[in-house]
Amino acid sequence: MTALVARVWPRETTLGDGGALHLGGQDVRDLAQNFGTPLFVVNEDDFRARARSLREVFQSAFADIGSDVDVYYAGKSFLCTAVAQWVIAEGLRLDTCTGGEMAVARRAGVPGPKMGLHGNNKSDREIATAIEMKVGRIVIDSLAEVGRVAAAARAAGRRVPVMVRVTTGVHAGGHEFISTAHEDQKFGLSLADGSALKAVELVLGNGDDLELLGIHTHIGSQIQDPTAFVVSARKLLAFRALVRDRTGFVMPEVDLGGGFGIAYTKADEPIDSAALARELAQAIDDECSATEITVPRISIEPGRAIAGPSTVTLYSVGVVKPVTVDDGDVKVRTYVSVDGGMSDNIRPALYGAEYTARLANRDSSKVKIRCRVVGKHCESGDIVIPDIDLPADIAPGDLLAVPATGAYGRSMASNYNLIERPAVVAVRGGAARVIVRRETEDDLLATDVGA
Ligand SMILES: *Cc1c(COP(=O)(O)O)cnc(C)c1O
Repeated sequence: MTALVARVWPRETTLGDGGALHLGGQDVRDLAQNFGTPLFVVNEDDFRARARSLREVFQSAFADIGSDVDVYYAGKSFLCTAVAQWVIAEGLRLDTCTGGEMAVARRAGVPGPKMGLHGNNKSDREIATAIEMKVGRIVIDSLAEVGRVAAAARAAGRRVPVMVRVTTGVHAGGHEFISTAHEDQKFGLSLADGSALKAVELVLGNGDDLELLGIHTHIGSQIQDPTAFVVSARKLLAFRALVRDRTGFVMPEVDLGGGFGIAYTKADEPIDSAALARELAQAIDDECSATEITVPRISIEPGRAIAGPSTVTLYSVGVVKPVTVDDGDVKVRTYVSVDGGMSDNIRPALYGAEYTARLANRDSSKVKIRCRVVGKHCESGDIVIPDIDLPADIAPGDLLAVPATGAYGRSMASNYNLIERPAVVAVRGGAARVIVRRETEDDLLATDVGA
């Protein structure tokens, strides 16, 4: 039996009798039986512990330089009312970027002041909703938005706290980062071409309606090298000093965004958040001393690093089909079809994201064979894992478990091929409960109003 690589699986993942996987004290065979497949199984304690730990390590590192940190959970990675309540209970805040995400937060009872609203193309309605909910910050993403938010604030008779999203030229993702002067992307306002400064001055010029909290940046996702964060933070701090020199205004807060990398497979090392927090605090302290300015309040916005590792997708195996591949050397590849695919995990097709999987309902002593795990959709690109060795006796009715699917899985799920999106079940203390129910055919037909 292959051992479990701890950093890839949620806490409390064990192997029971006969090699069946247990998640939070629940046998996957019972989970599949009781809730059906495909199924997202989230370990609530794992999710909460990651949320709490990120908050604690950042608050502790920044306390050492006389500052404090707010952690905003990036709701887009996976949001439902239960999750919104978990993050608030763990002392975090919540980032949203649409009316829909704000609606979930509202239903969950998240206080508006503990929320942020992002978005490069917010609707008037989304801006008005955010102001009505008294969200703690609206992150302005374009010059045109300054006037729109100011007008909405005036209409509501309230001074609205805002940040300005800037682009630092630092891009990161996977194992690499690059730093360039100019950005070619839809988000934020450039430090290099002066539009960030212009936006800040515009906000300050609308001081009756807008309260400038500070600046924000988000440099990418699944980042494993702390250097990119440090380089970006230094640029933000230098800009903050420039704003002080130009306008006399010292922005109280700097938001460093999210993007902390996790382990999807054993090839990945998750970012060490405590070390990252210390490096960032040191760099920010240095920059502030060099420019003789007070250390700002800090915020961060992790999504994946909290939600991702907490969750395992369970699939049932259907068709198992050996296919002869001739690419110079003739071999057999076995296509293992599962009952979901790109509708519950688009990341392999969208980003070439890599996952691992294991036979979950039993042990097998059979040799391993070269497999490709595919979904049930009408697309040959509907691949969960292009290349993986699985036991040769894998058969219809077996369960396959894919770890690290908590972020950007269910939240990016679609109804492609009119498939019902899976349920999400939370396990905790040996018990399991549905937090998002599986869709039904009635749900699929509910919006179809007919001819
Ligand atoms: C997506 C996003 C995040 C979260 O990114 P993760 O990689 O999930 O940590 C944070 N902030 C902003 C503005 C984002 O768009």
